[in-house]
Amino acid sequence: MLIAMPPPGQLHVLDHPLAAAQLSILRARKTLPNDFRKAMQKMSLLLLVEASRRWERQSVELESPLASFTGCILPRPVALIPILRAGLGLQEGMLPLLPDACTGHIGLQRDPVTLRPAQYFCRLPADLAAAEVLVLDPMLATGYSAAEAVAAVKAAGATRVQLICVLACPPGVAEMQRAHPDVPIVAAALDPILNDVGYIVPGLGDAGDRYFGTGSYS
Ligand code: URA
Repeated sequence: MLIAMPPPGQLHVLDHPLAAAQLSILRARKTLPNDFRKAMQKMSLLLLVEASRRWERQSVELESPLASFTGCILPRPVALIPILRAGLGLQEGMLPLLPDACTGHIGLQRDPVTLRPAQYFCRLPADLAAAEVLVLDPMLATGYSAAEAVAAVKAAGATRVQLICVLACPPGVAEMQRAHPDVPIVAAALDPILNDVGYIVPGLGDAGDRYFGTGSYS
């Protein structure tokens, strides 16, 4: 299914050589799970840098060894919400830079025929209202799972939510913009096609299988 590109709106696509290099490792079918995991974790940090551009900062007056200066702190807690199971790769990658972030998990299973998600698990941190919330799913395909997960975090009180993915495609972006026009989407790249079974093309295959080594890619 080839669909016209959505308006850029809330979509922020990384346009960076470091992201392009990691993405090539992720896409290549010969990449083994250990290298896939390392590339996913490096990509997580690049996506985090882009997403955190929109976070609130608070000024603080500090002293360097030479002079006073106005520094900043991040006043809001951060909540990482991976959609199980592939989102765990992004969460693992972000933790070194956000060691104090709390993590909530949302389990969604796609019906293979309707491609609609059914929730089988949801455990979210308390006090999402004050937090910078990142919903993590490497593949924004139909957009149904992402939209459902964002609805769950909003229902739990979150107001500052972003969706982080490695690859987006036009139907997924359109569904997110329809359901949650207020939520920025950060992606490493926008691929053109969603195929009949809900896979992004050229994509990288099944992100969970490749991260956890449960598929057969050789
Ligand atoms: N989920 C994946 O893992 N890959 C896709 O291409 C689409 C959804």
